Amino acid sequence: MYQMDTIAAISTALGEGAIGIVRMSGEEAIEIANRVYKGKDLTKVPTHTIHYGHIIDPRTNEVLDEVMVTVMKGPKSFTTEDIIEINTHGGIIAVQSVLEALLQAGARLAEPGEFTQRAFLNGRIDLSQAEAIMDLIQAKSKKAMTASMSQLQGGLSKPIRELRQEMLQTLATVEVTIDYPEYDDVEELSMTQLKETAISVKEKIQLILDKAQRGKIFRQGINTAIIGRPNVGKSSLLNYLVGEEKAIVTEIAGTTRDTVEEFVSVRGIPLHLVDTAGIRQTDDVVEAIGIERSKQAMDQADLIILLINQAEEFSQEDQQLLEITHGRNRIIILNKQDLPTKVRTEDLAPWVEAKDIVTASVMTQEGLDDLESQIEERFFKGQLESADINYLLNTRHTQLLQEAMDSLDEVIEATEMMIPVDLIQIDFTHAWNVLGEIIGESVQDELLTKLFSEFCLGK
Ligand code: GDP
Ligand code: ZN
Repeated sequence: MYQMDTIAAISTALGEGAIGIVRMSGEEAIEIANRVYKGKDLTKVPTHTIHYGHIIDPRTNEVLDEVMVTVMKGPKSFTTEDIIEINTHGGIIAVQSVLEALLQAGARLAEPGEFTQRAFLNGRIDLSQAEAIMDLIQAKSKKAMTASMSQLQGGLSKPIRELRQEMLQTLATVEVTIDYPEYDDVEELSMTQLKETAISVKEKIQLILDKAQRGKIFRQGINTAIIGRPNVGKSSLLNYLVGEEKAIVTEIAGTTRDTVEEFVSVRGIPLHLVDTAGIRQTDDVVEAIGIERSKQAMDQADLIILLINQAEEFSQEDQQLLEITHGRNRIIILNKQDLPTKVRTEDLAPWVEAKDIVTASVMTQEGLDDLESQIEERFFKGQLESADINYLLNTRHTQLLQEAMDSLDEVIEATEMMIPVDLIQIDFTHAWNVLGEIIGESVQDELLTKLFSEFCLGK
């Protein structure tokens, strides 16, 4: 059985923010907190209340930090156990010394994901919700965050439960057939029902997978390449996009020195801007490599933004770029509209449809709204409601759903070949079990440990 001792960990990102939270969960949480807390007697306060006081080092009685302590008694808590949350307001040193004090006073350092694991083991959340918490931690944009939230509230669990319920009814009918083999028409009835249920469940799984495809875009971002000749305004556009919502922008210096990745959010849609050879570099010697670099950046792209400077004569290189992006998901920007026009939309007619062209000035920001609308339209065609993308499937979910579909295919095929019902039932039950694994109703312990260890410490 699972050992429910009292665990503690820092649950805010290390080194960030002005406050830190140390969280503790378990039977002795309140008592342990009391040993290091100077203020009210925490064993006597009502549940779900916050208290001001100080944390002291239990060995030296030295005051470590001024804190707010939240007391949440089980079962109405995240883990269903007693939980203590200590808000410290010092930096990393304060947070760590408070944690240290709790460990001294009898708590054990939590394993990664152990709080969430307890919530799961205590029946507070199901597995897909536990995974949603992990996604939440890693959510790259607000929309992705909403989707993770919705999954946390049972987004994926609900349809899976419904599917299993539907299948269970069929299984019950089949049981009757197997118990009373002498009734031929019952056998026929359950054949039909097996087949119909298999078809219906399969269709619904397909729907979930389709929706998830959109969800995936939210999670990983739309791989976007910004390309164009030197000086057309690539860096300016990148900076504009990056500047738009600073809060969620991360800059990751890649393994090679001249690779820059940016996550930006355009109307809540996360774009993963991939730029080989430093779009942001002003030194255009690098950019002179032109076409070759553009090809590389384009390789993995879901979306290509190709800039053309309309204030200069249309060049051989522009034409080449139009040619190599043919057939791809692309938006052409005729940039620098604030300057006299030398290239018009009509001039590009041999290479690109007018609907894929946006006239803009990155400098004055004119036309950039149109660009954003285009991006929105292409990826979501008005289906931007987060309710629609509440299935965020990870590889494990997708594999299991696929496996369930395969088994259901076997079922459908077998019913057509008039194979005995009890044999068909095996595949059908398998599909039912596999769906159960998604919400953790038939998961092996080993898998659980692996899943939860992927969580951040303290979650
Ligand atoms: P890149 O080489 O493609 O990355 O182009 P940059 O973004 O570095 O821009 C090259 C130059 O063009 C800079 O001086 C920008 O300020 C300027 N530029 C960018 N967009 C516009 C625009 O819309 N209008 C005008 N007039 N200048 C622009
Ligand atoms: Zn540049």
